[in-house]
Amino acid sequence: MNRAGRIVDENYGRVTSLALDPVEKKPLARWNPGSYVLSVGSYGCSMHCPFCQNASIAQVGADGVPWHEMKPGELVERACELRRRGCIGIAFTYNEPLCGYEFVRDAAKLAHEAGMRTVLVSNGMATDAVLDELAGLIDAANIDLKCFTADGYRRLGGDFAAVTHTIERLVSDPVCHVEVTTLVVPRLSDDEAQIDEASAWLASLDPSIPYHLTRFFPCYRMAEGVPTPLRTLANLADVARAHLDDVLLGNV
Ligand code: SF4
Repeated sequence: MNRAGRIVDENYGRVTSLALDPVEKKPLARWNPGSYVLSVGSYGCSMHCPFCQNASIAQVGADGVPWHEMKPGELVERACELRRRGCIGIAFTYNEPLCGYEFVRDAAKLAHEAGMRTVLVSNGMATDAVLDELAGLIDAANIDLKCFTADGYRRLGGDFAAVTHTIERLVSDPVCHVEVTTLVVPRLSDDEAQIDEASAWLASLDPSIPYHLTRFFPCYRMAEGVPTPLRTLANLADVARAHLDDVLLGNV
């Protein structure tokens, strides 16, 4: 947030959601299957998608949702306590974690010192300066690819070039496992040509990147919409499989 010309990390350590999740729920299909991560979220997001499934925390500020203060060290301690239940680390998720990347950076450092792993689930809206600060601190990431045009991203309040750059950087990071997700929303992101282009581009980075095509269910400003037809998802998966080795369907 901009306070009198100064950027401040207003949601630092303000936790709205905390849950022990299977890694497959993030979704991460090809990274430590069968294990769990302590998932943590705050509030806020850098985009404003009308189909947001987490709008109650992502599209509000400090006054819009209950939160409690948690220091990075307390979060790591909590994750370590859950080791006996299969917890291997912390996932920064639910709202957009990079809105408060300083908390991600500080908690991830402590998590690594404690022998825990770290996961980032993000819309990928980050500058190089932010990615530099997180370099080496993220073990696995699932990045959304909402669509494959600059105009589509502009309509969602995002930046296509920034997101594709983030994916490129993470894929080239030797320590970070990367998976990518596209939520297939009818009439917004169910275009065969775009999925074809997106998967060809992903394959040019690494054809083995797991690519999730997930089913939309009506919510938030698209509560009147219809769920993605299963046939549409299956067709788009075939399109993507022409380029990529590992295409998965989600929410089906
Ligand atoms: S990027 Fe994700 S959290 Fe942010 S508005 Fe879009 S769907 Fe919601």
